Amino acid sequence: MTTAYQPAQGDDALEQERMILDSVDRFLAVEVKPHVHRLEHDDIYPTEIVEKMKEMGLFGCLIAPEYGGLGLSTTTYAKIIERISTVWMSISGIVNSHLIMAMTVQRSGTEAQKQAYLPRFATGELRGGIGLTEPDCGTDLQAIRTTARREGDEYVINGSKMWITNSGSGNTIVLLVKTDTQAQPRHKGMSLLIAEKGPGFVVSKKLEKLGYKGIDTCALSFEDYRVPADRLIGGVEGKGLQQILSGLELGRINVAARGLGIAQAALSEAVAYSQTRKTFGKPICEHQAIALKLGEMATRTQAARLLTYAAAAAYDKGERCDMEAGMAKYFATEAGMENAHEAVRIFGGYGYSKEYNVERLYRDAPLLVIGEGTNELQRLIIAKELIARNPV
Ligand SMILES: Cc1cc2nc3c(=O)[nH]c(=O)nc-3n(C[C@H](O)[C@H](O)[C@H](O)COP(=O)(O)OP(=O)(O)OC[C@H]3O[C@@H](n4cnc5c(N)ncnc54)[C@H](O)[C@@H]3O)c2cc1C
Repeated sequence: MTTAYQPAQGDDALEQERMILDSVDRFLAVEVKPHVHRLEHDDIYPTEIVEKMKEMGLFGCLIAPEYGGLGLSTTTYAKIIERISTVWMSISGIVNSHLIMAMTVQRSGTEAQKQAYLPRFATGELRGGIGLTEPDCGTDLQAIRTTARREGDEYVINGSKMWITNSGSGNTIVLLVKTDTQAQPRHKGMSLLIAEKGPGFVVSKKLEKLGYKGIDTCALSFEDYRVPADRLIGGVEGKGLQQILSGLELGRINVAARGLGIAQAALSEAVAYSQTRKTFGKPICEHQAIALKLGEMATRTQAARLLTYAAAAAYDKGERCDMEAGMAKYFATEAGMENAHEAVRIFGGYGYSKEYNVERLYRDAPLLVIGEGTNELQRLIIAKELIARNPV
């Protein structure tokens, strides 16, 4: 029931995209869908699915071909994430956080770092995510307290991180640290390191979550953990915040695609269920109260799709798109929340049962309004950009 908006692309590119999306659909139908219920409710890490994703090249789908990746466009990637999220959003996090790490190295790393890491990120041999948030700060990243002290050819890291996705099952993260705690403005003392697990890199706890099950999100602590100095991304201290922020547009488009996937899944479930469930002698879709909900859900889903694809197309063209990515992230994730909520209502008592998918969608959706910049922050960014683009 997807109504695709197609940005202008050559026939070959469209054909290639169609083949990739078909293979993703087959993978989801055969390898993922039959197992979601068990893996989700028992909170089991999907090892076999991850192995299949490695074979498909999904861990390298945005990495440039010269470094062993598929070099797909952001538009195609957003459509992959949308599809995955209609089936099980947790899988999207396994690949998404990993690619934010990989793309940070591809965008800001030295040539030696790219050669050393990107091919292994692309195969999934090295897997992981991004370590930014700390127990005392997420939105205000300049307040982080994890320090990296230079000692000869190494950095010695001390501190803790919170909510780090893929950090239990994975083996590498890009880690945001303070290399100068006195710097003013504070971001000039912030740097990014490629941190592979080793002595002093401690996974202190796997966090229990409302949804987003199966995938591991952990608290980490660093106790005199040593990283070779040549793992400093870009080779220059003080650029860490800037390097992470320059990846946020891509991250937000991807979270928008997840919201879109949830919105679509909730709509599809509601459209199907409302035709089979009967009350007062007719299917509930024929009651106007339910029909109005379906109309709103479908419109929200399509609007989320158009915003997400438009932001991805602007990103692919190299246009500045912080406002567009912010709008897509904000709208599509709120659409996911609202549609999941409405689907639970349409399912009546069964919407509250673990037997049905809508219960999972209802638990997964709230993460999206928090992660990759909360939706409060998105609206502030949109407004700031609006004023900057329209001075009087
Ligand atoms: C399941 C899960 C997975 C995650 N994965 C990762 C990961 O892999 N790596 C990682 O680094 N982090 C990760 N995070 C952390 C996530 O990015 C943060 O939770 C998020 O950035 C918000 O930070 P916070 O929780 O500290 O909230 P806070 O920053 O304390 O914000 C609390 C509230 O205040 C509002 N607020 C804050 N500042 C402002 C302001 N200036 N104006 C208006 N409102 C404001 C926020 O919008 C929010 O409503 C994950 C979180 C979860 C729940």
